[in-house]
Amino acid sequence: MKKILVTRKLLKACEEKALKIFDVKLNDNDELYSQSKIIEMSQGYDGILTSLTDKMDAKTIDKLPDSIKILSNFAVGFGNIDLEAAKKKNIVVTNTPDVLTDATAEIGVLLILGACRRAAEGIESAREGGWKWSADYLIGKQLTGARLGILGMGRIGQKIAKVAKSLGMIIHYHNRSKLSKEKENGAIYHDNLKSLLSVSDVLSICCPASKETVDMINKDTIEYLPKGAIVTNVARGDIVEDEALIDALNRRKVYAVGLDVYKNEPNLNPGYLKHKSAFILPHLGSATKETRTAMGNLAIDNIDEFFKTGNCKNIVN
Ligand code: NAP
Repeated sequence: MKKILVTRKLLKACEEKALKIFDVKLNDNDELYSQSKIIEMSQGYDGILTSLTDKMDAKTIDKLPDSIKILSNFAVGFGNIDLEAAKKKNIVVTNTPDVLTDATAEIGVLLILGACRRAAEGIESAREGGWKWSADYLIGKQLTGARLGILGMGRIGQKIAKVAKSLGMIIHYHNRSKLSKEKENGAIYHDNLKSLLSVSDVLSICCPASKETVDMINKDTIEYLPKGAIVTNVARGDIVEDEALIDALNRRKVYAVGLDVYKNEPNLNPGYLKHKSAFILPHLGSATKETRTAMGNLAIDNIDEFFKTGNCKNIVN
């Protein structure tokens, strides 16, 4: 039996599955292991089931024992793992695509709705009581007819586009490569970021965090947005330069934000908290029972497939 270290607590059904297949070390108290603790605990193990809270940078990976052959990440994103460092050490990295697309797209749509329709202010007023209905009370931005710019029209972006289209939004997108007509489903392609941002009444960030996309939404690129645009991010906090976005909110260049992800989670930039219009969630993208179960099972299957066949369909490095 292969020896597998699981760094975070999984849902019960997934842990039971892992116990049947591997000699597994679970994290019953869901302790957040430090990098040095992961290195220490992985001695004598064959693989690690990591989560996005584990910063597997080059220094950490270099110090892992040679027995470690796979890092199976419990996420579709893998910005927490240095893929090159893993490759150099002959460690395979896998992710959990597809199974979390629908749940994450739901949160992506919620961010758009919440930011456009002033849900954060509305919830606060409803809880406080004493609000007075009037014709101009908490007026928001209507989605019907608004242009939605999707930065990163992959699995999650396409699902958000489908729902947004049914709400009457006009879909634009930017990827490095243009999609097939079928996948575009009527969306308008922009071959560069400036062009996409200039038509984005509402922006939905759905691309992965990578060397290319870090701080892609910054002091300069924010200026390409129409005045009063809405910025939502369901992908990764690293893509946004927080100070620039908060400054744009302060001077009303940006009307509202809808955010699920942040730099330095869970310590989000306090500048966002000062804005009543900020509709903010604590990284809930894939957080449904069905999806977290499917992700855990896939992360386990990835390890099993790799040790049985020497390969795995979800290798990303
Ligand atoms: P995906 O299917 O791989 O889609 C990513 C899209 O981004 C692709 O269309 C890709 O197109 C585009 N892209 C990549 N690099 C780009 C660049 N430099 N400039 C412009 N576009 C770029 O991934 P997915 O499954 O939709 O997931 C997307 C991201 O969502 C994940 O990486 C993860 O970080 C995040 N996520 C967040 C949550 C959450 O809990 N909030 C949950 C799941 C996923 P090209 O390759 O043609 O450029």
